[in-house]
Amino acid sequence: MTIGQGEFRGGERGTARISGVTFGVRTAIYSRVGGMAIFEGDIALGLVDEFEQQLAEAREQAVAGDVASAVGISGSRFRWPGGLVPFTVDPALPNPERVRDAIAHWEQNTRIRFTERDPAEHVNFVRFMDAGGCWSFIGLQDSGAQTLSLGPGCSVGNAIHEIGHAVGLWHEQSREDRDMFVRIDFANIQTGQEHNFDQHITDGDDLGGYDYGSIMHYPRTAFSANGRPTIVPVDPAATIGQRAALSAG
Ligand SMILES: [Zn+2]
Repeated sequence: MTIGQGEFRGGERGTARISGVTFGVRTAIYSRVGGMAIFEGDIALGLVDEFEQQLAEAREQAVAGDVASAVGISGSRFRWPGGLVPFTVDPALPNPERVRDAIAHWEQNTRIRFTERDPAEHVNFVRFMDAGGCWSFIGLQDSGAQTLSLGPGCSVGNAIHEIGHAVGLWHEQSREDRDMFVRIDFANIQTGQEHNFDQHITDGDDLGGYDYGSIMHYPRTAFSANGRPTIVPVDPAATIGQRAALSAG
């Protein structure tokens, strides 16, 4: 089905992997118009059949699995030297055992290590405190203390997720290749919250294959205005948005 005319034609959606001179492989949403993949109304990318074949191959590679799956912030300045994260726990933090449990989980499942901050040795550190809600900066900020907030309502799973941010991970569905794996339904997103579904293309690096089971993935109804899904996995059997544990990836 083709809708519109002239410079502004649309049709059934597809996803293409394209590569260019100033960027590596990226994905683009196109419209199927008479067997051609049309981008932004009037730009031909190529034949739909070719893109669908490429996409099937890319999905197979992702399912075959990699050691690590994530989207990490670009740039070595955001890395914790030696994979060691110094931290403090604010004395007023409710249920501080959440921090111990989340750190133990990261240490049991990854090579990242955590150590109580020694002021003589560690300039930069994560400060676990209740600053309202669950949130964190992405990666090392080089700002001395960097807050990681765990309000009273944040679970151990939320703490594991926020530590993921502190060590440099964006949300899984913000990967550059996400349009091959999930469909973002902008019609169901709360007005003004669309930016939460931005991708990290210039400031993030896709690592490994897409991981529906990542603790860094949003759930189906994140920022929903009406209870209907804002994120629909292409794989109908996929479960997204768990906040229990790090996935294998
Ligand atoms: Zn998050």
